[in-house]
Amino acid sequence: MLKVVIQSVFALENGLSRRGIVRNYSFGSMVNNVKNYFALRAGTKPPYHHVCQVGDPVLRLQAEPVDLEVIPTAEFKKFIDHLITVMRSYEAYGLAAPQIGVPVQVFVIETTEKNYEENSKTMRAGQPLEIVPLRVFINPKMKIIDYKTFTYPEACVSICGYSAHVPRAKSIRIDALDLSGNPFVWNADGWPARIAQHEMDHLQGKVYTDKMDPKTFSCVVWDLVNFKEGKLAMDYRPNIRSKFRSFFYT
Ligand SMILES: [Zn+2]
Repeated sequence: MLKVVIQSVFALENGLSRRGIVRNYSFGSMVNNVKNYFALRAGTKPPYHHVCQVGDPVLRLQAEPVDLEVIPTAEFKKFIDHLITVMRSYEAYGLAAPQIGVPVQVFVIETTEKNYEENSKTMRAGQPLEIVPLRVFINPKMKIIDYKTFTYPEACVSICGYSAHVPRAKSIRIDALDLSGNPFVWNADGWPARIAQHEMDHLQGKVYTDKMDPKTFSCVVWDLVNFKEGKLAMDYRPNIRSKFRSFFYT
């Protein structure tokens, strides 16, 4: 049975401290929790409807592989559907399971024609954003094909409001399982490769600030902060469209 290490988010239910508590949960436990989340207490426990923010211990865990027996279950399918829904609600190009509080080796990627159109001309001129049809990666293993690195602005829905330039390998190959549990190979170059490397990092408890050029780390609305004389507030909810979400978020 898949053992899922769920951070202290579960401990909240029992009135325990959020910090420093790690528990072992079976996937069955997680499934029951999923049912509760959707039926009764949506938004209070993982998988969340919002995205966890950096500082949450769940973002620093090594994600656990998904047991092959779990993949065909309706509960797992429901979990994947939820991950996709949250990704789309934040208009992110990708999202990893730990970002909604569940540290398992799963991520999703999707870039649409709308994303392509909205991407800045500057970015497109440098390295074109490509349209990537929705894809689910389960237990992915990545291999770098071309070690030549490209550095571009990157952001993350788990570090809302900021961005930085991050070097990434030019091209990669991922071996993973699909929703049917069948292995597939995915080769990517440029932006799709960048998004996948960002998501792979999430599965290893890493975030882009670990790899960024520190001098480029910026508040994406620093100019607006001056213009508004500091009268700005960050909103972490899904389905909020603002300049905070105008960068490349995964
Ligand atoms: Zn991210």
